[in-house]
Amino acid sequence: MKITDVRSIILQHDLEEPLGYSQMYFSKRTAHLLQVETDDGLTGIGEVFGAGTLAFANRAIVERVLRPLLIGRNPLDIGVIWHEVYNLLRDHGQKGMPIQALSGVDIALWDILGQATGLPLYQLLGGKARDSVLAYGYGMMFRNVADLPGAFHEEAARIVEMGFRAAKMKIGMGRAMDLRLAEAVRNGAGDGVRLMADANHAYTPGEAIQIGLGLRELGFYWFEEPVMPEDYEGYREVRAALPGLLIAGGEAEYTRYGMRELITRRCVDILQPEVAATGGVSEFGKILALASAFGTPVVPHVWGSDVLIAVNLHLAHALPDIPGGLFQFEPMLEYDTTPSLFREHLLAESLDVRGQVKRNGGRVSVGDKPGLGIALNWDFVEKYRVD
Ligand code: CA
Repeated sequence: MKITDVRSIILQHDLEEPLGYSQMYFSKRTAHLLQVETDDGLTGIGEVFGAGTLAFANRAIVERVLRPLLIGRNPLDIGVIWHEVYNLLRDHGQKGMPIQALSGVDIALWDILGQATGLPLYQLLGGKARDSVLAYGYGMMFRNVADLPGAFHEEAARIVEMGFRAAKMKIGMGRAMDLRLAEAVRNGAGDGVRLMADANHAYTPGEAIQIGLGLRELGFYWFEEPVMPEDYEGYREVRAALPGLLIAGGEAEYTRYGMRELITRRCVDILQPEVAATGGVSEFGKILALASAFGTPVVPHVWGSDVLIAVNLHLAHALPDIPGGLFQFEPMLEYDTTPSLFREHLLAESLDVRGQVKRNGGRVSVGDKPGLGIALNWDFVEKYRVD
């Protein structure tokens, strides 16, 4: 089997109102999908992290840099291809967009391997560690409304009503406002719901510790990206100062080489690799090996279309409990509940995450079809593609 083409597909739609986090507001939804075609008719699907205008820069890397390296190669030589491409990119970008682009290709190659062998991705990764995973409802993004705490309170209640037993909110507006928002979310969600707060690296260690003390008092489960991803010592300071509140991070870190620092320096309680950025399924496995050797649990970061949600459903089922036990910590599936058309409609057959969450106490199961087990709904794709 040989690779005959590699193509990017960028989808975009306008949002009714801008959504924000600690670094920016955005008013368009973007998804960067990728197809790897082969001479025996199999087509692998991937997704590349990097929203908005970054998707167009990543598309140039996919089509102008990676495509010529891939045409004619055996798509099942996944590990060999990864290593060769990484070596060639190394001098020009060990982190960021080149690795995001490589991630999308790698995901598509695993999809092809699954189709070629008739096995679902979770099986290729070693099998299902559990029959279903707990999904957590991502929401509570910044909006331009007069009463943001009131809006967060309502949204938290709505996420719980959808059936989610865990939810994540944005913070990063300064200590006073963050704690008002966190209190509103706690009140809206109720006491039994597991809550996470995500600062998207908006704080210094000193500020993060102050805010973390407030989150801990409200019974939050984890504090995500409190400080800059480059500040490994800052992570350690925050973690040491906040016993009782888990520190999570890793979405802005790349490959096993970057993750090595977060893991070996014990910067985080929970590592969050983004499979569509950090190097793909292949690299995710290497990062998992490193994390397990240091006893650090992995909960995948997810922010993308249903293609990426499908990949992460497989990953979340295949991940081991770390360290392991009958009543153990379990990985969760991150599920974005904020407005996007690229969920529920993008695939020929919906993943029905929301339906499953509602019916199954907040839990979701992965299907048994080969590879990622998905096909694109082409009418939908043609309607929203902008390339
Ligand atoms: Ca995050």
